[in-house]
Amino acid sequence: MKLHENTAVVLSQLLAKKEVSAIEVTQSFLNRIGDLDPLLKAFVTLTPEFALKTAAEVDQKRINGKRLHPLAGVPIAIKDNICTEGIKTTCASRILSNYHPPFDATVVSSLKAIGMPLLGKTNMDEFAMGSSTENSAFFTSRNPWDPERVPGGSSGGSAVAVAAGMAPLALGSDTGGSVRQPASFCGLIGLRPTYGRVSRYGLIAFASSLDQIGPLALTAEDAALLLGAIAGYDRLDSTSLPEDVPDYSKELGAGIKGIRIGLIGENVDQQFDPEVNAAVKRKLTMLEQHGAVTGEVSLPLTDYGLGAYYLIAPSEASSNLGRYDGVRYGYKAESRHLEEMFSNTRGEGFGAEVKRRIMIGTYALSAGYYDAYYLKAMQVRTMIRRNYEKAFQSFDLILGAATPTPAFKIGEKSDDPLQMYLSDVCNINDALAGIPSISVPAGLHSSGLPMGMQISAPPSGEKLLLAAAHFLDGQKRGVPQRPQLEIGEGGSK
Ligand code: GLN
Repeated sequence: MKLHENTAVVLSQLLAKKEVSAIEVTQSFLNRIGDLDPLLKAFVTLTPEFALKTAAEVDQKRINGKRLHPLAGVPIAIKDNICTEGIKTTCASRILSNYHPPFDATVVSSLKAIGMPLLGKTNMDEFAMGSSTENSAFFTSRNPWDPERVPGGSSGGSAVAVAAGMAPLALGSDTGGSVRQPASFCGLIGLRPTYGRVSRYGLIAFASSLDQIGPLALTAEDAALLLGAIAGYDRLDSTSLPEDVPDYSKELGAGIKGIRIGLIGENVDQQFDPEVNAAVKRKLTMLEQHGAVTGEVSLPLTDYGLGAYYLIAPSEASSNLGRYDGVRYGYKAESRHLEEMFSNTRGEGFGAEVKRRIMIGTYALSAGYYDAYYLKAMQVRTMIRRNYEKAFQSFDLILGAATPTPAFKIGEKSDDPLQMYLSDVCNINDALAGIPSISVPAGLHSSGLPMGMQISAPPSGEKLLLAAAHFLDGQKRGVPQRPQLEIGEGGSK
């Protein structure tokens, strides 16, 4: 087995036993990137020197007998909306195409303190607005299962990196599905933590009441380790949860005996691919056979979530993106006077989808429309949260499809925003409710593409989510499903 084929937990064990060095591990992923990234385009920026320097430091510490975190020397890829000091952080936007943050996001400081080599920054939809990476100002990333298809988004580059073995772990961000939807399209585990569980300090804001950073991984064990590394209270984020971080890796084997699991009735919709529905049902039956108590749960406002989200998220975006004016950050357009500078900078710096969201959001917040749109959407959001609270009185976990279909073709939905928005219809409601939610592989579609299932828990229920996901991993004997990628000369397939 090649080093880059291992999960993070296996790499961590090999490193601890000194069977491999962090330099060897890091170099093997850098080689894999060299082979595959020209085809799959997961990375906006590569940081090989930085990664190897971190790896060398970890190796030295290990030689000196220092106590190290299990993830020390395990490399990682980071979505390009998470600030890295001195390393370009573009949000896949022209407006930030040359932005070098003067500080690290809190999650990056945590990973640096552990000694995780940073391989590079991954491609995404511009400002995390999208579901396919086609809204990146630079290029579209490709799904390793079928390079003619999208990897999902907005954290598509991070998902590609892990699925193709170019990184054992990656960080994404999830505002309304951007970790879970690409995880589903690429056959991975993707976890959206409880709102406030992971610091947003240094995550470039899209919709602040929804944004959360989360791990993309091959197994639940790997995701648990990474979540433990990034979770925790942070005084630099006023919405951070002042709660202790449990050891997510500790009771992973707790199993699902006696756990009450509800299948979302409304999700089994005729618009969903029947194979996806069947896969989810099969998993539910399997969970039942192993002792889970299953039933159907109703979330009656499911259909309203998408509409509410596409008012709330753009409203917050229109306010958050006001700072990109050519004065304080990044790109500045040629102009003759001040007003022209604002309009040219924003006109040239933002792509079409970002402009659409700014316009929708500004409209929804404007005097006279605020009550009809923004306020109404916020009321729907509260009702959706109450729906979940009620459902969690009868169930410990709620289960449904992670995406209505497997990955779609590049270009298939890029001219139709509504169809694109509908691709994360399964992921929006948990985000609005602020609850944790995990996307896990649910088997392969007859097209050969991975399908995903989503499991949600009450606030701070990550341990239970990870235990359920770990149980499902165990049913595959812990071997993650991987795409078949044949590498030819120069990285072509
Ligand atoms: N696809 C959704 C959107 O475009 C979600 C994005 C996200 O979670 N960042 O807004």
